[in-house]
Amino acid sequence: MELLENKIIKSGSVLPGNVLKVDSFLNHQIDVNLIYELGAEWKRLYADEKITKIMTIEASGIGIACIAAMHFNVPVVFAKKSKSSNIGNDFYSTPVVSYTHGNTYEVIVSKRYISPDDRVLIIDDFLANGSALRALITIAEKAGATVVGAGVAIEKAYQQGGDNLRDLGYRIESLARIKSMDNGKIEFC
Ligand code: 5GP
Repeated sequence: MELLENKIIKSGSVLPGNVLKVDSFLNHQIDVNLIYELGAEWKRLYADEKITKIMTIEASGIGIACIAAMHFNVPVVFAKKSKSSNIGNDFYSTPVVSYTHGNTYEVIVSKRYISPDDRVLIIDDFLANGSALRALITIAEKAGATVVGAGVAIEKAYQQGGDNLRDLGYRIESLARIKSMDNGKIEFC
C-alpha cells in the first residue's frame, strides 16, 4: 500500500537489531487517519468473509485493531500479557516469543469472548518471526473459532513468519512488505 510505504520512508528509521522504529505514527504516537485507511484496505480485502471478531495482542495492536474494527462493525478482543484479577480461571493461554524484547511470555484470552461461531480476523502492527500471530491463531483455534486470516501493517518479509503461516494455509494480508533494511535503507517487496 503506497500510502503506508511512503509514510515508512518519510518517518521510519532502522534501529540496531533489525528493528524498524515507527513510533511517530504506528505504535507510540498514532496517526489515526493513516490507520483509518489501513482499516479500509483490510475491509476491502476481507469484504466477503463475514468477519465477526477482530483479535489482536496488547499493547500496540489495540489501537490499530480498534480503528480497523470500525470498518467491520465488530468487537475487538485483545490477548492480555498479564492475568488481571478479574479475568477468572476460564481463559485460553499460550506462549509468545517477543521479537523486540527477546523474552517469552504467556498471553491469555477469556473464554467468554471467543466462541466456535466466530470468524476471526487477526490484526497486528508487525509480522517478523510470526510468534505473535501464531499465538493468536492458537487461541482462536483452541476456542473452535474459524481463523479467516490476518491483516498486518508491516511485514518484514525477509524473516520467515509470514511465509511459514502462508505455507500452513493461512491468509496473511500485509500492507507494506519489507524486502530488506540493510545499512538502514528500507526496500519494499
Ligand atoms: P513476531 O512475533 O512476528 O516475531 O513479531 C511481531 C511483534 O514484534 C509485533 O507485535 C511487534 O510488536 C514486534 N516487532 C517485530 N519486529 C518489529 C520491528 O521491526 N519494529 C517494531 N517496532 N516492532 C517489531
